[in-house]
Amino acid sequence: MRDAAPTTIFLKDYTPFGFIIDGVELTFRLAPKATRVLSRIKFRPNPDATDKRFFLHGESLTLISAAIDGKSADVRDVDGGIEADVPDAPFVWEAEVEINPQDNTALEGLYMSNGMYCTQCEAEGFRKITYYPDRPDVMAAFEVTIEGNEKVLLSNGNPLSQSQGFAKWQDPWPKPAYLFALVAGDLLNHPGTFTTKSGRQVDLNIWVRPGDENKCAFGMQALKDSMKWDEDVYGREYDLDLFNIVAVDDFNMGAMENKGLNVFNSSCVLASPETSTDGNFERIEAIIAHEYFHNWTGNRITCRDWFQLCLKEGLTVYRDQQFTADLRSAPVARISNVLALRGRQFPEDQGPLSHPVRPESFQEINNFYTATVYEKGAEVIGMLKTLVGDAAYSKAVDLYFDRHDGDAATIEDWLQVFEDSTGRDLGQFKRWYSQSGTPRLTVREDYDGDTFTLHLSQSTAPTPGQDEKLPQVIPVAVGLLSPNGDEVMATQILELTEAEQSFRFEGHATRPIPSILRDFSAPVILEQGIDKTRRAFLLAHDTDPFNRWEAGRMLARESLLASITTGAAPDAAYLDGLGAVLRDDTLDAAYRALMLGQPTQSELAGLLHEAGITPDPEAIHTASEDLRNAKAAAFGDLLPVLYQDNQIDGPYSPDADGSGKRSLANAALSLISRTDGGALAAEQYAKADNMTLQLAALSCLLDAGAGKEQLAAFEQQWHDDRLVMDKWFSLQIMQAKPDQVAEVTKRLTQHPDFDMKNPNRFRAVMGALSMHHAGFHHKNGAAYALLAEWLIKLDPVNPQTTARMCSAFQTWKRYDPARQTMMSAELDRIANTKDLSRDTNEMITRIRS
Ligand code: ZN
Repeated sequence: MRDAAPTTIFLKDYTPFGFIIDGVELTFRLAPKATRVLSRIKFRPNPDATDKRFFLHGESLTLISAAIDGKSADVRDVDGGIEADVPDAPFVWEAEVEINPQDNTALEGLYMSNGMYCTQCEAEGFRKITYYPDRPDVMAAFEVTIEGNEKVLLSNGNPLSQSQGFAKWQDPWPKPAYLFALVAGDLLNHPGTFTTKSGRQVDLNIWVRPGDENKCAFGMQALKDSMKWDEDVYGREYDLDLFNIVAVDDFNMGAMENKGLNVFNSSCVLASPETSTDGNFERIEAIIAHEYFHNWTGNRITCRDWFQLCLKEGLTVYRDQQFTADLRSAPVARISNVLALRGRQFPEDQGPLSHPVRPESFQEINNFYTATVYEKGAEVIGMLKTLVGDAAYSKAVDLYFDRHDGDAATIEDWLQVFEDSTGRDLGQFKRWYSQSGTPRLTVREDYDGDTFTLHLSQSTAPTPGQDEKLPQVIPVAVGLLSPNGDEVMATQILELTEAEQSFRFEGHATRPIPSILRDFSAPVILEQGIDKTRRAFLLAHDTDPFNRWEAGRMLARESLLASITTGAAPDAAYLDGLGAVLRDDTLDAAYRALMLGQPTQSELAGLLHEAGITPDPEAIHTASEDLRNAKAAAFGDLLPVLYQDNQIDGPYSPDADGSGKRSLANAALSLISRTDGGALAAEQYAKADNMTLQLAALSCLLDAGAGKEQLAAFEQQWHDDRLVMDKWFSLQIMQAKPDQVAEVTKRLTQHPDFDMKNPNRFRAVMGALSMHHAGFHHKNGAAYALLAEWLIKLDPVNPQTTARMCSAFQTWKRYDPARQTMMSAELDRIANTKDLSRDTNEMITRIRS
């Protein structure tokens, strides 16, 4: 076995595997530095395959023995695995390999985290466990035997037998290797049960390290809610008698949907009021739902190849977003999703890393677990639903489950069920999967005394590898308002299919005011060319909650851009309109808190760049601070009222109402702290009995240049809690002044609790550094150098996490020559590092291109 050379893999080259698997038996003899894995796999020739080569992937394995039909097999080492000559008939492959979980710091395959064994196989980690056709279209039923001294020995499916030091598991559902999982450790479980709609009882468990058992109740409830929701809304019932979740401290991603044995980054499942913020609770609920929903969209129907990743991820994100919207506030959920899309996906799609929702080539698939595949992938599903309607969507999805259950499917299969059940031609719609870039939607209005006309046009700028863009199908949700704010036309969906198209609305005796792209009906950039008065009108009157919020956001945006480019003072019309919204008690607190927010500094940098202006991070920072100070001054009387009115008596609950009130109170506090030197925040800190209030207070104190004492007290109080300490690390960087960000970060990397091997801790520090726009881009270049230095250190330890964090540099070409030169030098330094991983190499190459 040799390591695979970096090569580019193409979607168009797909061919099926030459063999079918009739069953897999694995035996694990666990030992930290020398685990033995015995495999017994029944193969038979695949009549549909033309490539009959018997090739098994393998990486970092020591082969002890291999046999075919009981006779020692001659295996040849080839790139990325082994080959052997096999009979043209069914045969049994047996192999024994040795692996080293203890030294596996890449956290892919079988590794150890705090003394427990666990696995991570998606996308191509199973090949680090044993020789296997490690590709999602090869599905098989697994039987797994575990021999180890740990109290708890888990794998996928149902337990067959268990005794001291031994466990045998059987997963009846054929699955690809990436859904395999094994966990062994001295764990405790938080149990639960769920009765499915057909009356079957399912045992549920959340497994944690001792000490974390009181942080499971919320996750358990979220799991039950998810199971119920998937039955109610998608008609999908769980299909095993047992569902296990395990919390792991060292994990590259958020969580993993292994069949019947989900493995979670502990930050995405463990929650308690004292240690978790409202945001944490919300995220945990969504991720538990996401992984659970994968059981049908991902596991029962999986992907033919990794190019189809959005088939499971886009759909599953869409489903978890629907779930959150149903359980909490739909408008608040939608606004949050759009903020995330604009914050993460738009920059990706408008820079060197831009790629289609379904990429056509890659070197390292781990680099394609992106905001584009996930979040834009979900937007594409949402548009499809908007276009066909709710009932047709349900019918098509039912057909998808009927037709493809047990399959490794493609985007073509997905679209085909919509075509077959609706009769619609989705040929043009499919461009959403193949064209990268963010379309720009431009609007012009006409009115002749009776007919109101909207002239819509679309265009997409060239992206890497795609110079020409064709028009896409864009569902544009539009409503019309009268000048007194009444809705004179309820929301309609305009289908823009051409580069330019006009839509007429007749019989309007007065000129209506359009509300366009309601609920953000497509992931595009809307250019409306409207003035402040119009935006203020929509902020006051729009009947679509998303667009009402959007009107305020646009006013804030324009105010900031004017300040940055011309030094203008914050826009009084914006502050007036915002004040009226904040005073409106009929609007829920969470929504008003979102209204109080403003565009991020990196968003502003992106907007300036789009407008052909080189962003100056210092000027952006100053303007952003000025606007917040202007709010603090303009709402001097209102803020204490908002703060008071949203205090909650009684026990903490992370529900939508409670978290909404806390978010508004905390938003008010952060502005109040700009004028009272942190006095109220200190009060809140002193009496806080939950992390949401405690952390917000500390954040305000640091922002106000105070909080030294509280910062030390916080560390004292929480030094034993890894997840809380991650917040402590991040917060100091987030609240540092731009010229101190690199220094503060550097100091924190010298803290005894900074451990680069733990992805959460590394991200808490380096992620905060790269997300502090003015600090990261400080003209002294110290932050660029510091991040590069740490990426170079981390790469040999954990390539996946290193590669993902390289995206901090993806916007380097936006900036002035001096900054570009500095960033480019750091990119070169990383690129020229000896033995750079394939993951990081691909990312740096693309970013530099
Ligand atoms: Zn997923």
